[in-house]
This record gives sequence, structure tokens and C-alpha cells, in this order.
Amino acid sequence: MAIELPDQKRVGMVSLGCPKALVDSERILTRLRADGYAMSGDYAGADVVLVNTCGFLDSAKEESLAAIGEAIAENGRVIVTGCMGEDADLIRAKYPAVLAVTGAHQYEAVVEAVHEAAPPSQGPFIDLIPQPDVKLTPRHYSYLKISEGCNHSCAFCIIPQLRGKLASRRIDAVLREAEKLVAAGTKELLVISQDTSAYGVDIRHEERMWKDHPVRAHMTDLARELGQLRTSEGRAPWVRLHYVYPYPHVDAVIPLMAEGLLTPYLDIPFQHASPTVLKAMKRPANEAKVLERLRSWREICPDIAVRSSFVVGFPGETEADFQYLLDWLDEAQLDRVGAFRFEPVAGAAANDLPNPVPEEVKEERYARIMEKTAAISAAKLQAKIGRTLPVIIDAVGEPDEDGDIGATGRSQADAPEIDGAVHLREVPASLQPGDIVEVRIEDADEHDLFGAIA
Ligand code: SF4
Repeated sequence: MAIELPDQKRVGMVSLGCPKALVDSERILTRLRADGYAMSGDYAGADVVLVNTCGFLDSAKEESLAAIGEAIAENGRVIVTGCMGEDADLIRAKYPAVLAVTGAHQYEAVVEAVHEAAPPSQGPFIDLIPQPDVKLTPRHYSYLKISEGCNHSCAFCIIPQLRGKLASRRIDAVLREAEKLVAAGTKELLVISQDTSAYGVDIRHEERMWKDHPVRAHMTDLARELGQLRTSEGRAPWVRLHYVYPYPHVDAVIPLMAEGLLTPYLDIPFQHASPTVLKAMKRPANEAKVLERLRSWREICPDIAVRSSFVVGFPGETEADFQYLLDWLDEAQLDRVGAFRFEPVAGAAANDLPNPVPEEVKEERYARIMEKTAAISAAKLQAKIGRTLPVIIDAVGEPDEDGDIGATGRSQADAPEIDGAVHLREVPASLQPGDIVEVRIEDADEHDLFGAIA
């Protein structure tokens, strides 16, 4: 039970945006807890409300502004942080009552702003109370951020402007955090960054001692060491790599998947397939041999699931470019695909490119890519019927009128929040989120699987 100190100040948090922003929110809250603040689950109980914003797309900015407006209306004492911190003037013009605006990763600045807005209660015991890290994700999975920023300059992206150049964390610090998370009950680690395959490039893959041996700040070393961790049940945690670019050295992690040290899953944001569009997008690792590489990865690790995202309607994308992408998808047979219609982002180089694609053409292409990828996904999931797969449980339901309990989980091919689910029937009441069970797959639709514990 949480001990509440007299006059303990309470902080509310509205966290918007991507998993990386969620990790920032967790860090801020962990710091504030260590400073003696309590968390508030609602506006009314908070002395001050933090809004962690996302400013990546114009639609995300609108959502962030709406969230700030709601927090002002409901509570009135609001501090804004996150990617939209770059737009401090815009925020202040719209909401003059905002107490402070700080940018992404400015942990010190945001903590200081909270201290000013709601000075912490000074108690003699505060420093003596061990404060566990605050986690906004369920306890059984955790995001592990390995670097900030990015060295690329993709034409549609303003992350390098917002977050700066690639800055990798020390490998021993990353591993220590992962070890702590696993000891605290994490069964699945989601490795995130802007460019996971570039991890350590900025620090020349420096070596640090970990346990009794040196490890390099490199994606392969990181993956191998994460695969050696053990949960309290003595199992290896699931370890997923997100935002990996298909550089040649990525080949080295595929055998780790075949060995069971790494979850057979890669999240590679290809964004397009047409060489002309990729060139206009200024994408890294834009090389023709990707299909061959996918084939060889599947030979080494037949169960590997590849997820990706694509942008349709990028300026200058012709019908031939788009058809090239659809044909490429037929060949690539990706397991999971997210598609986005191109949207100009204030400050991005792509906004100045000629030949914008009309909105109705974007819509039509979006519908076509969704139809194509849904058909591929449905066929791949159909092929899993009859197999027995490990599934991590996310939620267990209440008994229905017959006393049957259902549960929802994910196979190794499904990352939380972005991929599909496995729906289980008639599970034992003792089943808990985070349990990993063997499930016999009985049915499938376009995105989800259905089955029962084997
Ligand atoms: S790789 Fe490209 S899209 Fe990804 S963060 Fe860097 S600049 Fe943005």
C-alpha cells in the first residue's frame, strides 16, 4: 500500500504520443516520486497537471493542444512538456494560463517547474522511503529506451530537429535497467529508439564491463545480453527490437532469434519500396536487396515476424510508384503493416517538394494498401491454425453466465499496442497477466488469432 505523507503534493499526468514519450513520462514521474510527490489519477485531486505532448504530425499537435485545453479547464494549473515544447509561443498564445512549457527530455526543467508550481512537502522521511520506478505500461512489459535523437534527415520527419543527433546510452546502464525491470516482473522488453540499428555509432560502440565480461554498445551485443536475463520463473524474457533499419549488420541478430535469445520479431519502418520515392524521402538503408535479405532471414529463422509502416501519397508518388509498392508487398509478405497518408509536418523538408498528391488520390491509395495488407495478414494468420504457439497474457476477463473466462494475449509476432491479439476461451481463473502459456490456435481473422490453452 502506498504511504501518503501529510500535505503530500499530487501530480496528474496526461501522456500523449509514442512509446518513447511514454518512457519520458515514466522517468519524470519516477523523479517526482523520489522528490516526495504522489500521483493523482484525476484532474480534481492534482495540485498540478503535466501534459506530455506529441508534436510529430499536425494532427498530433491538435490532439496535444486539445489535451492542454482540457487540463486547463478541469484543473487550471498546467505544465506542458514533450515534443510540442518547441512550439512554446503557439501554446502560450492559445493558453496564456499555462504555468511552464519545457521541451522533450528536459527532465530537470520539468521537475523544477513542478517544484515551483507545487513546492514539495519537506518531510524527514522522504529520502528514507525507497521509491520504486513509476511505470505507465502494465508490469509485464516495459519499454527500454537505448538512445535519443537521430543522425538521419528523412524529408518528412522533424525528429532530428526536435530531439537532436543520436545520443546512445551506455550499454551497462541499459542492461542494468533491463535487469531491474525483469527482476520487478517484466516478462517482455521492448527495445526502442529512433534508430535501433544505429545504437552506439555516436560513442564508437564503446565497451563497458557487464558482469565479468566486456560488452560493446552495439545492437548485437545488446540483444545477446538481454537474451541472457532470466525472469523469476527462470525463463528468458521476450525481447523485441523496434525501429530497426535494414543495414547489413542486422543479419547478425537473426541467428539470435533462431537460438531463442531474441523474440523472432523485427519492426522495420520501410515507409516505401519505390526507389524514386525512397530517394525523395531520403531514407536510410535505402537499398534494393531488401527482398533478398528478408528471404535469407526467413531461411535462418522461419518464424520471424516482420512489421513495418508505410506512407502513401508522399509528394511526387506516381501511380507507378504506388503499384511498385503493392507488388513489393506481395513479394515481401510482411506479417504486420501500418499505413499512413502523407501529412505535411511543420518544419519538414518534404513540405517544399513539388507534385503534392491530391487528397482523394491519397485516400484511394490508402484504401488499396490496407486491403492488400489485410489480405496478406489474413492468409498468414490462417496458416497458423492448428499450431501451438506461446502467448503472453495481457488481460483476463470476468466469468460469463456459464462461468467461462476468456483472456487476451499476444503471440511472439504481436507487439503490444500496435499489432494483433490472441483471444483465448475457457482459461483457468488462476491465469494472470504476464503468464506465458502454450495456446493451440483454432481460428483466425484478418488481424487476430483465436484458441485455447493446449
Ligand atoms: S530515421 Fe528518419 S524518420 Fe526516423 S527519426 Fe530519423 S529522420 Fe526521423
